Amino acid sequence: MPKIRITFFLLLFFCFEFIQAQHQTQNIIIVTTDGFRWQEVFKGMDSVIANNPKFNQHDSTYLFKTYWANDETERRKKIYPFLWSTMAAQGEIFGNRNLGCKVDNANPYWFSYPGYNEIFTGFPDTAINSNQYPDNPNENVLEFLNKQKEFHGKVAAFGAWDAFDRILNKKRSGIPVFSAFDSVGGNNPDANENLINAMNKDSYHPFKDDECLDVFTHYAAMEYLKKNKPRVLYISYGETDEWAHAGQYRSYLDAAHQVDAWLNEIWNFIQHDPQYKNKTTLIVAVDHGRGDIKKEEWTSHGNKIADSHQIWFAVIGPDTPNNGEINSSMQLYQKQYAQTIAKLLNYTFTTNHPVADEIMQVFKIKK
Ligand SMILES: [Zn+2]
Repeated sequence: MPKIRITFFLLLFFCFEFIQAQHQTQNIIIVTTDGFRWQEVFKGMDSVIANNPKFNQHDSTYLFKTYWANDETERRKKIYPFLWSTMAAQGEIFGNRNLGCKVDNANPYWFSYPGYNEIFTGFPDTAINSNQYPDNPNENVLEFLNKQKEFHGKVAAFGAWDAFDRILNKKRSGIPVFSAFDSVGGNNPDANENLINAMNKDSYHPFKDDECLDVFTHYAAMEYLKKNKPRVLYISYGETDEWAHAGQYRSYLDAAHQVDAWLNEIWNFIQHDPQYKNKTTLIVAVDHGRGDIKKEEWTSHGNKIADSHQIWFAVIGPDTPNNGEINSSMQLYQKQYAQTIAKLLNYTFTTNHPVADEIMQVFKIKK
């Protein structure tokens, strides 16, 4: 074969390899539901907790009618139908320790600020040891992406908890962070945004001024998604953690079930919009786990509560294989999410602190 033709074929081969190696994800939506346990995700409602009058809000009938089935795989679908029917069927779900798949906090504290810092910076910074910690000195992956030309101004975060202003360092990061009772829509709110703002302000404040009800965060984020079409969007729901601390198992499960319905709504929107369809990865995660001992410690977490470092996550998108519930032995950490987010978008997150490696199992094509 003439030399020139060999060179041509070689070039073609490398071009093909390059295209193959590029990930297909162009947009990412990350959703967290604060401190929801892997135990309920994989095993469904816990009957011992549900039968305890201390935790069932004096209505075990409601709990059993709504969330119980004798078969474990049927039972878990009652809390999370979208997670199990769509995300697990077309994507992957990690964290069933009974099958050997372990996901953990790498930070030693097992509560929220250290957890969200770990998720978004890839760095389990031991200096971050309080939910009152001031503005986060560590650069996060949302901020990193917003600095890239193609993502600039196309990154946004919505959180029910007001601490996200500090966690994502709203002042420095330059990305819009809408948290708790912040109004949405800027100087020109549309009719929907005006209504969301008014209702959020006048709503029941069970968590005082630190945190709004998830419904307002969700509607504000959906409005932003439809109107502004961000390429990277983070939505943080908080009620699962709040109702657990309050010892209200019914509201804890109802909040999780509602998050599942919203995930379904988000995915439905994505798969019917040309900018997002088949080009968007959805990641669902938690910031920490909760206890399980004596069926009393489920309400709490932190490093004095055994097992509350145990977490789970799920991924669906064009670059993720449909392996479903992962049933092989592995050890993954929350600190790996940040680089996974960057790599899905064909970037490598490098910054002013160490960043843990991505989770290879999330990718069809290993680079
Ligand atoms: Zn908590």
